[in-house]
Amino acid sequence: MAHLLFKDVNKVYPNGYHAVHDFNMEINDGEFICLVGDSGCGKSTTLRMIAGLEDITSGEFYIDGKLANQMTSRERGIAMVFQSYALYPHLTVYENLAFGLTLEGIDADIIEEKVQATAKILGLTDYLERFPRNLSGGQCQRVAVGRALIRKVNIFLMDEPLSNLDAKQRVTMRSEIKQIHRSVGATTIYVTHDQTEAMTMSDRIVVMKSGGYVQQIGTPYELYFYPKNLFVAGFIGEPPMNFVNGRIEKGKFVNGDGLSYDVKPIVKDVASIEGKEVVLAFRPEAIKLAKDGKAGKDEYLVKSKVDLTELLGDTTNVYANVGKVNVILKVNPHDAPKMGDEFDFCVPYKAAYLYDKETEQAIPSDMERQ
Ligand code: ADP
Repeated sequence: MAHLLFKDVNKVYPNGYHAVHDFNMEINDGEFICLVGDSGCGKSTTLRMIAGLEDITSGEFYIDGKLANQMTSRERGIAMVFQSYALYPHLTVYENLAFGLTLEGIDADIIEEKVQATAKILGLTDYLERFPRNLSGGQCQRVAVGRALIRKVNIFLMDEPLSNLDAKQRVTMRSEIKQIHRSVGATTIYVTHDQTEAMTMSDRIVVMKSGGYVQQIGTPYELYFYPKNLFVAGFIGEPPMNFVNGRIEKGKFVNGDGLSYDVKPIVKDVASIEGKEVVLAFRPEAIKLAKDGKAGKDEYLVKSKVDLTELLGDTTNVYANVGKVNVILKVNPHDAPKMGDEFDFCVPYKAAYLYDKETEQAIPSDMERQ
């Protein structure tokens, strides 16, 4: 296990591209951290700086209190799993697992013991004599994880390890990797562009935006219920949060489509946002049905017209228009409206978020989200 500390870490590539800006973070022993964000936002660059595969342009990176900027990959005590499994096709699973240890000149009996133990953790015992071409994608990925696991390391780095698998295998491997992490305990940094993967696997998530800017670091709970800015609000959650533009007039959120809501209950200091352009946000799954076309206590009433519905089984996605704005709502299939229906719904105050349109930051609120 290892404790990691990043102080103002930056990466500027030789061509002048500034790929990571002021990365600051402390990672505790044994934590499972996901770096998440769209393609090109600097996740792999950050991972490669941790691995020692890319130089750190400026700033400091510490492993267990020791400055690690100049350490070799080996000195850092890391193992890395890539998106391409990078298995040796002409070697069996056993030989693939044993490869690194054989190179290090470790005794055959110790290798045998380690290969068997690793194969057991990963459910590969029955496949040790097979070649990679005779394995499924999920099994190949397990061998790749096994090759990293078999070496005693303190830091485990994974770069999109599941992206070559089909949806079902991804779900299975997600929980397997979590279980391995629980039993091995190595500090793990995992890169993905998939917010569901990040939400389900992490102790904490780092959300990054293109240009290499960290947007928010927090537990899955914090990111989902307390997104600090519009980017995080729109990135975490599926389907994404709904955004309605408007402005604050006399303490009310108003927009050109007839919405007018008292925002005093949901912000700390309403006077400070008077006249501001703002975005009202709510999650598709946070809405409630309006009873008799009325809002309950502590709710905003929203009138919409239904464009399209999608039955998913446990829920129905309703695509609707609120004035000129398109929204997505998640509704119990038994209560779902039909295409073309007028549909009134409510947004509880505790599920309503306000963001400053210009700075894109959350407007401070004391609201306890649920
Ligand atoms: P991600 O992993 O989030 O998809 P990367 O860290 O791979 O993103 O890349 C971040 C940005 O840095 C991208 O715009 C990419 O094109 C750029 N980049 C990556 N490697 C190099 C390099 N060797 N030289 C210049 N730019 C690079």
